Amino acid sequence: MQLFNTLSAEERAELIDQSGKQRLTLSFYAYAHIEDPKQFRDSLFLAWDPLEVLGRIYVATEGINAQLSLPADNFYAFKDHLDTIPFLNGIRLNVAVEQDDHSFLKLTIKVRNKIVADGLNDATFDVTNKGIHLGAKDFNTMLEDPNTIVVDFRNHYESEVGHFTGAITPDVDTFRESLPIIEEQIAAHKEDKNLLMYCTGGIRCEKASAFFKHKGFKNVYQLEGGIIEYTRQVKAEGLESKFIGKNFVFDHRLGERITDDIVSNCHQCGKPCDNHTNCANEACHLLFIQCDDCKEIMHNTCSVECLDYIQLPLDEQVRRRRGIMNGNMIFKKGRSTNISLKEIGEAADIAIAPKVKPSPRQRIKKVLVGKGEHYYPKAGVGQFSVEGELKLGDTVLISGPTTGDHKLVIDKMFVNGNEADTASAGDRVTLNLPFRIRLSDKLFKLPG
Ligand SMILES: [Zn+2]
Ligand SMILES: [Zn+2]
Repeated sequence: MQLFNTLSAEERAELIDQSGKQRLTLSFYAYAHIEDPKQFRDSLFLAWDPLEVLGRIYVATEGINAQLSLPADNFYAFKDHLDTIPFLNGIRLNVAVEQDDHSFLKLTIKVRNKIVADGLNDATFDVTNKGIHLGAKDFNTMLEDPNTIVVDFRNHYESEVGHFTGAITPDVDTFRESLPIIEEQIAAHKEDKNLLMYCTGGIRCEKASAFFKHKGFKNVYQLEGGIIEYTRQVKAEGLESKFIGKNFVFDHRLGERITDDIVSNCHQCGKPCDNHTNCANEACHLLFIQCDDCKEIMHNTCSVECLDYIQLPLDEQVRRRRGIMNGNMIFKKGRSTNISLKEIGEAADIAIAPKVKPSPRQRIKKVLVGKGEHYYPKAGVGQFSVEGELKLGDTVLISGPTTGDHKLVIDKMFVNGNEADTASAGDRVTLNLPFRIRLSDKLFKLPG
């Protein structure tokens, strides 16, 4: 009984070419309770190896996550085998749009602790008790419902360049960080709101939806197959894409354009731009957004320091690089001290593209005084929970990823339902607003 690969990658590539068979690349995942992952792994290998399945598959007590390819002729035999496994019976298989016959050259099925490295070690909830799956059409309909809260469960650098309109986009580096943040923001709406969630391929929401159901949320929905499947359905069914901008993906493209909207700005000059790049200084490699002008001036680096660094002789670069760990900083874009309009602007001898749209975020000293709770579109009224002091005549900035930045002077406000001239922490304030606000938009007080 052969349970492992016997061919090398080179031998396999040659065999694939000789066979002349067209291959399909596909992926799927499922959360389930698998008693004996080792035995399950072996049974998959025995069934799939004869079908010439190649790929990378992770099996854990919590389920399976598979990326694989197989000869198109064997597709139905493969599907028949999946259907013999109760939790994989009828599962939706994501077939890759671009087929590459050499996408996998081995069948590797590994037993892991988890099927995705999500950093969650909460064994108290049942990962199979997930939210209701919605296709693109139903997801669009539910987005229209004023009783819906929509949450993006991707990381900040992903949602920055593209997201669903009106979504809460947590400013986090990891999935695990987002859960308590979101829970706190929407804790008051466990029963009265629809909690609608999405991520890139759907797998993070499988777990997030189970987490929020476990926390007592009653109406939990998730975008089936994530943005990838949503986009496919939008195209196939001619629907309106309510996802705007780019879908960030981890391949050389660093993002796939979904709509023409550009929802982010160059991190160096502030002009509208959604091109991610890695800093050309290999010792930095920071992932950030850079426009073509800044790219040229900065030689594709993120900062003056990195620009200086790449001009050092190569052996000097290698010498300095020794012992310096930068891995954890790569995705810290926006929080990296390197990325700051101010720092770069202050280096007097460096030419830099003109600042087109100075962001008030970096320039004005502001004090957080409240958070958005609700918007009543008919009345044109926004409701905020107050966390500081607020009075008539104050200049405020209302800011959020989708809302944008709006500056205004408060000339009238209602505090806990009555017209008043001051509000303090714990109060609920409503203001007439000519624009829509979203849950957790920030209300800042500006000086003067
Ligand atoms: Zn720029
Ligand atoms: Zn850099």
